[in-house]
Amino acid sequence: MTNFLNDPLMEEQFAKIKGLIYKYPKRVLVELNNICPIYCEFCTRKRKTFLKKKWQLNKKELKDILIFLGENKEIREVVISGGDPLMSPKELIFLLKKMERLENIKVIRIHTRMPITAPEKISNDIFDFLNDCKKNIYLSIHCNLAQEISDESVEVLKRFRRAGVILYSQSVFLKGINDSVEELEKLFEKLLELGVRPYYIYRCDPVIGAEKFVVPFEKEKEIMTELRKRISGLAYPTYVIDAPMGCGKIPVPLNFWKNDKSFFDFNNKLIEIGE
Ligand code: SF4
Repeated sequence: MTNFLNDPLMEEQFAKIKGLIYKYPKRVLVELNNICPIYCEFCTRKRKTFLKKKWQLNKKELKDILIFLGENKEIREVVISGGDPLMSPKELIFLLKKMERLENIKVIRIHTRMPITAPEKISNDIFDFLNDCKKNIYLSIHCNLAQEISDESVEVLKRFRRAGVILYSQSVFLKGINDSVEELEKLFEKLLELGVRPYYIYRCDPVIGAEKFVVPFEKEKEIMTELRKRISGLAYPTYVIDAPMGCGKIPVPLNFWKNDKSFFDFNNKLIEIGE
């Protein structure tokens, strides 16, 4: 029986200084704010995003993070999340500008749902910065359904691409919303068509209040197995469980292999490969 928790990924346990989580080797997570244009009931960080009191990191806290990054040379990748980091453009641009100068930081990722939920609220200043940025910026877009992608979303995705940003997506399995082969086929093919590489689809995190969204595990595996037969590899994300207790993103095996000597092909024919 799954335990539903406030902080299922145990992020707080890995917090080093305010706003900085250091869980995996060589990469850190920066939580820039707890502000978001919408409030998803299945949000992993609802312990923060659902708080009435809103905050974003102040100058001193951002500087502390930059000092930490500069001193810990093994860190090469920074993921900026929130809340939604695009809701704090001034703070985001300050951080990006300074990180641009840090030799050890090679990869910068911004995790956002705003191109889908509130494309009109994305500040022009962000595009101005990105147009001149000397480092590659990766933008991870949280999107769960093709119908979420409006004409405004499409336009804003084009603007990011024109600014040289590399786009990829993350999605969450949600019961009654996208738990079918047809819905996910539409979603991933649409994203790929728009220049967004589907990256991960997660099993819904066991966060308190998200119980009703959790899809039976076997059903998810069946959907992802069937989907693998229908769409191109480029449109197909890795299906993972962000394992409870902070154990990491564990890929889920699909239903192709019967054992290590036989598998079902795309036509469900059993193939033996022998010794
Ligand atoms: S958009 Fe993301 S950060 Fe905001 S509430 Fe939804 S899941 Fe949480």
